[in-house]
Amino acid sequence: KFAFVESAPPIEVFALNKAYLDDTFPQKVNLGVGAYRTDEGKPWVLPVVRQMEQQLAADETLNKEYLPVLGFEPLASAATRMLLGSDSPSLKEGRATGIQCLSGTGALRVGAEFLAHIGKHTVVYSSNPTWGNHSLVFLSAGFSTYKSYRYWDAAKKALDFDGLMEDLRNAPANSVILLHACAHNPTGVDPTQDQWKQIADLIEERGLFPFFDSAYQGFASGDLDRDAWAVRYFDSRGFEMVCAQSFAKNFGLYNERVGNLTFVAKDRAVIEPVRSQITLLVRANYSNPPNHGARIVGTVLNNPALTEQWKGHIKTMADRIISMRHGLRERLEKMETPGTWNHITDQIGMFSFTGLGPLAVDKLIAEHHIYLLKGGRINMCGLNTGNIDYVAKCIHEVVTT
Ligand code: PMP
Repeated sequence: KFAFVESAPPIEVFALNKAYLDDTFPQKVNLGVGAYRTDEGKPWVLPVVRQMEQQLAADETLNKEYLPVLGFEPLASAATRMLLGSDSPSLKEGRATGIQCLSGTGALRVGAEFLAHIGKHTVVYSSNPTWGNHSLVFLSAGFSTYKSYRYWDAAKKALDFDGLMEDLRNAPANSVILLHACAHNPTGVDPTQDQWKQIADLIEERGLFPFFDSAYQGFASGDLDRDAWAVRYFDSRGFEMVCAQSFAKNFGLYNERVGNLTFVAKDRAVIEPVRSQITLLVRANYSNPPNHGARIVGTVLNNPALTEQWKGHIKTMADRIISMRHGLRERLEKMETPGTWNHITDQIGMFSFTGLGPLAVDKLIAEHHIYLLKGGRINMCGLNTGNIDYVAKCIHEVVTT
């Protein structure tokens, strides 16, 4: 029965990770998968998360009964508030709602299924390049057409804003436009506030539908409000939109799959029908979400003292990334490595789009045991004071030979 099945292509980022793990070279460096590492190169369970886990484990009033289909309400409402801000017009008017989902990917998937099946949208646009999973999620969810809008100008190592605007201008009405809320993956380049305003104008004028993907709130600048600026701006303009939120990076809860899907509607009367439709979509899919991570995030976000503690952790992570950006740029400039390296500190968030070509990337992997994605994206968290000299030296070498 299964004889006809052909192998599917590997997922680049996981294949790369496996190659790294299999490599026995002592100085090997993993700049691939998007996860935070401490300066010792270790994964970090945030202290506030550990503390919550101990507290939850000791609480014998808690049990393992199912959560509601739409999840743990204290998480969903707090996540929506964290995204839209407490001054949000849609929140105040009861036109916004949140639904717990299986991390960012699950929120994207539920949002995409809703838009495809209930909203009858068929075309989605994401940036070129974008996170490698967007096309798979939207096509699997029922969209018939996945297209790209221009985003990255490789020559200038900057946003191709004119290209972006032209592509959005030519998108058919009703197309869903995926927008990275902040800290664009993989480029680390976001539109400026003025550019966001122009994007919003165009989306409005052309009858397009904005779908934000917020996987790095707080991680970009260390400031939750600043990182939510674009989403809040769209909210302030009265757009109808959805936003997928992930707590993988900013809470370090990768495998706990904590996420939220926020709907902002023009009219509060549609919130109940939307929630009831999502209930059926989720029921047919995984029935209800897991509790553990949701309770952690939900409890922290609903407690001001714990929230402050968490913000301190985000700042620790964001600051370490920023210091690695400066460190790498400084070293390359000191060695006079050919090219310009200001983009490393100009870019924000977890990733840097180095501008290294496929040949240089191949050499870094094969000759120097430094693992990075083919497109030249590096996870800044993979750098630390122990390996940054080695990485800079090897980049210099592959660029100059
Ligand atoms: N969107 C973007 C842009 C991402 O980078 C990621 C994480 N790599 C996600 C969504 C979803 O991640 P997760 O499902 O782990 O929350």
